[in-house]
Amino acid sequence: MSVGDSVPLLDLTRYDEELKRDIARRVQEVFETGRFVMGPANDAFEKAFAKEVGAAHAVGVSSGTDAVLVSLMALGVGPGDEVVTSPFTFFASAGEVARLNAKPVFVDIEPETLNLDPERLEAAVTGRTKAIQPVHLYGQCADMAPILEIAARRGVPVVEDACQAIGASDHGRPAGAMGTMAAFSFYPTKNLGAAGDAGAVTTDDPELAKALATLRMHGETSRYHHARVGGNFRLDAIQAAVLLAKLPRLKSWNERRRAIAARYGELFSDAARAEAITLPFEAPGKRHVYHQYVVRVQNRDAVRERLSRAGIATAVFYPVPLHMQECFADLGYREGSLPVAEKAAGEVLALPIFAEMRDDEVERVAEAVLKAIA
Ligand SMILES: *Cc1c(COP(=O)(O)O)cnc(C)c1O
Repeated sequence: MSVGDSVPLLDLTRYDEELKRDIARRVQEVFETGRFVMGPANDAFEKAFAKEVGAAHAVGVSSGTDAVLVSLMALGVGPGDEVVTSPFTFFASAGEVARLNAKPVFVDIEPETLNLDPERLEAAVTGRTKAIQPVHLYGQCADMAPILEIAARRGVPVVEDACQAIGASDHGRPAGAMGTMAAFSFYPTKNLGAAGDAGAVTTDDPELAKALATLRMHGETSRYHHARVGGNFRLDAIQAAVLLAKLPRLKSWNERRRAIAARYGELFSDAARAEAITLPFEAPGKRHVYHQYVVRVQNRDAVRERLSRAGIATAVFYPVPLHMQECFADLGYREGSLPVAEKAAGEVLALPIFAEMRDDEVERVAEAVLKAIA
């Protein structure tokens, strides 16, 4: 196959002209106000984003990683505390817990959705548990009803890691409007991507909103008075401007991702019935926004190599579960500790999906996948 036939995992250069103009206009406004840090673009974006998510407050921050970090800081997570989370996620979900000198406690995942398994959650909650942090993996919400029930009964706040799930919902409740707080990422590859690093935290709690806004500005309560130690975790005004231009398109982009996923589902249906491939499972009541379209196959690495030779880009999210990371060796997990996550890490394969992907590209990927697993 020639290079012209190749399909990328995603293509961040396919901006339509209208969107480019909208972004340029919003960025131009930032230059005209000269307010590059905080200012009207930030205020407008925070308002619009809170509304989109259905939360009372949104606080713009510098990245999804910092969104996780300041959420935990706002809850006072520190040395000796535990935060319960998934082992099968991007590093930041647990890395930020460790940065605060608290202990990540990993709960194994459900075999179908690959999200934190609520049935295993309660046993992991102790007197030291300062937060439960489910991750909405690949764009599908974790099973929030039982998680919220356990959290409420044990009096522990819930921080949703909604970085991959903007626009997703669980029985009609939007990702980011269910927990005590939720962390979002606008990394360029996410479903709503900035032109660089950016993130936000949403919450219904006015006191937490205030704490978050303070913590992103070095804990400053009034000019040069610091009630607590925070950091510089602000959202750049230019990024807020880009996000403001893109936010009205999010719904249609997510619809397009769902349509691509549905088409893949049709094209793979025979292979799935023959158990040659396991398709992503959309749980009842969940609206998946397919940040990633992740299948599972045996001989994953060989399949991946065949696809690469056919010009089809793929990725593995995530090859090493977090409890197996070198930096967490002293937490005492070993191979076999969390078998569902470990098995998934050896089988998952992310196929190209992005809102601007063309139908012929979807067909070409499916054809190559069917050939590769035959
Ligand atoms: C992307 C992501 C983050 C971190 O976001 P950044 O903006 O890259 O810092 C955290 N958690 C999950 C699950 C993510 O996918």
